[in-house]
Amino acid sequence: MGGIHRRRTRNRRWQWNDAIELALRALGIGNGDTVITTPNTAVATVAAIELSGASALLMDVDEATLTLSPERLEQALSENSSGVKAVIPVHLYGYPAAMPEILTICEKHRLFVIEDCAQAHGASINGRKVGTFGDAAAFSFYPTKNLGALGDGGAAVTRNSALAEKLRELRVYGWRERYISESAGMNTRLDEIQAATLRVKLRYLELENARRREIALSYDRFLTGSCVTTPHCSKSAHHVYHQYVVRSPRRDALREHLKEQQIETGVLYPVPIHQQPGYRGRVAVAGELAITERAARELLCLPMHPWLSDKEVARVISAVRDFCR
Ligand SMILES: *Cc1c(COP(=O)(O)O)cnc(C)c1O
Repeated sequence: MGGIHRRRTRNRRWQWNDAIELALRALGIGNGDTVITTPNTAVATVAAIELSGASALLMDVDEATLTLSPERLEQALSENSSGVKAVIPVHLYGYPAAMPEILTICEKHRLFVIEDCAQAHGASINGRKVGTFGDAAAFSFYPTKNLGALGDGGAAVTRNSALAEKLRELRVYGWRERYISESAGMNTRLDEIQAATLRVKLRYLELENARRREIALSYDRFLTGSCVTTPHCSKSAHHVYHQYVVRSPRRDALREHLKEQQIETGVLYPVPIHQQPGYRGRVAVAGELAITERAARELLCLPMHPWLSDKEVARVISAVRDFCR
């Protein structure tokens, strides 16, 4: 948030997924290193790994939560952990990944953990907020996120003061003292205008997340036991429903049925990273990614944002139930 003048167009390019790249670089991860993450995430997660100079290794997810599977992680690392330096669990759709289990495994193998919190502002496990488990965590403030700015923005957070200092240095050309680069950094300062907006919007995050949870509760109540599978949520997890994601083997027909009734839905993500044209055959994968691939064919994001009215929620529910009949 430095007060240096610069043109918006330049700044834009640098805001893109910078928090993850910055965290990786601050941890000394780069060329020759491998970073594990999941294939059902925003391309941004993997793009950031590659921008740091490291290589991504994609691992399949847990069937129920669609987040990084601790069992698979443990198994893959016990078979071969050479070159692996860090793991990036993604708190997908607002649901926290299994952090206590993942941390235990990463401690054993001496791996850094960077949480991708882009979809999970305010989510927690047993009262402990996501973003506080790993060595560092990355938040996105893209306008569609639970906490969104007026344009691009993001933040890297850490509890480690030495790492925080390194992050501050790298985000602005490696400066500790102005105009003196201690290291080769980048420019990823957050615009003042975005920071000012976010300071105000942060006050409403809890309230907006509560409304998202209320809507999810209605969806759960009236769609559980219908022809769609409703999202999993364990008792210890506080889900903030960035997306409310159901599954159906007849996803495309369901989507069409809802569209006919002017109900817009989304698919996050339609193509897993390892099947994207820019990554296919090039990005490393650890074994089968069958759970991710099937989820991509079956998942559907129902309307979810804090300003949906009860009436609108009821209309979505009845349209889905009508499809099931
Ligand atoms: C949105 C998102 C990102 C990237 O954030 P940007 O600010 O758009 O770069 C990274 N990871 C996940 C899981 C996201 O949803």
